Amino acid sequence: MTVLHIDNLGKTYGTTAALADVSLDVAMGSRTVIVGPSGSGKTTLLRLIAGFEVPDAGKIELNGDLIADAEFGVPAHRRNIGLVMQEGALFPHLSVLDNICFGIRSEPDASARALALMDMTELDRSMAQRQPHQLSGGQQQRVALARALARQPRLMLLDEPFSALDAGLREQMRGATAQILAQAGVATVLVTHDRDEAMGFADQLVILRDGRLVQSGSPKSLYRRPVDATTAAFLGPAIILPADFSGATAECALGAISLPEGDAAQGLENILIRPEQIIIGPAPNSAEWRVVSVLDRGNKSTVTIERLYRGQNVEISFDHVSAPEAGQTVEVSVTGTVHPLRG
Ligand code: ADP
Ligand code: MG
Repeated sequence: MTVLHIDNLGKTYGTTAALADVSLDVAMGSRTVIVGPSGSGKTTLLRLIAGFEVPDAGKIELNGDLIADAEFGVPAHRRNIGLVMQEGALFPHLSVLDNICFGIRSEPDASARALALMDMTELDRSMAQRQPHQLSGGQQQRVALARALARQPRLMLLDEPFSALDAGLREQMRGATAQILAQAGVATVLVTHDRDEAMGFADQLVILRDGRLVQSGSPKSLYRRPVDATTAAFLGPAIILPADFSGATAECALGAISLPEGDAAQGLENILIRPEQIIIGPAPNSAEWRVVSVLDRGNKSTVTIERLYRGQNVEISFDHVSAPEAGQTVEVSVTGTVHPLRG
């Protein structure tokens, strides 16, 4: 079932189209991650959903009810949507407990619920009377999360909530947050510009660029079939080669590659291969590919190979578990499914 339904949403500031024609569905209990470069409209989208901005075009529905369009808007505090920003934005003069209770303070069991939320977010109860400045960055973000969960939101919006934390803590918080939200059963929309965070967290990945939705789908499907080279490179290392397409076969420097059904094409297009799809084996003196360099990275090596193909020198680099010697000639094959890269 759909919790959030966004239809052709648009928002313009002066002459800047911060968001244009964005349509998106978020399923109950699911995790959607929005990625895109700085200025691509990620925060604008969250602010429109939360009710801090008014759209110029399109509409937003929550559980099937209209909550915003150009003429109508349910006030932010009535949407029952939780929001955690990059900096937790805790009330600096309130204790941890009072911060968490803030949205539910008129309710009789507020303190007990806040303490339960501290347990859930793994904040030691002994911290209840501390002030935000007496907490680490990670603890502050846990308080912000607990505060947002206190009102039992139907939807949780997280705007780069871990970006102020250092790498180790960020990973730990990401895992903990995913677990907490799953336990609470709240659908989540997370904004990040961190690839690993996006791939690790998402059921549904949404790519924004210049205010437009470029592509959405499962991380795996986007990784395999990105719409363009920029998206391909964002999602992971990409080997993009020109290929001569004829029906279901693409002829490129790596040989004749069979395409899956539905990907048949004619003429010149690019083909996308992920480095882990490349397999090399020794082929003394007989092969076209020659090893240019091998960089030892402990558990794997970064191998660069080259060949002359149709009068051009083609060079590709990829990580490989078995390391050949520089100067050696090798045989190269490609495993798995390979798709054309259009656009
Ligand atoms: P992101 O979060 O992806 O970095 P934003 O949603 O913050 O991007 O911004 C998208 C675009 O809209 C940017 O060009 C930004 O400068 C512009 N913008 C955002 N908020 C405002 C505002 N309140 N007034 C004017 N322009 C804004
Ligand atoms: Mg932002």
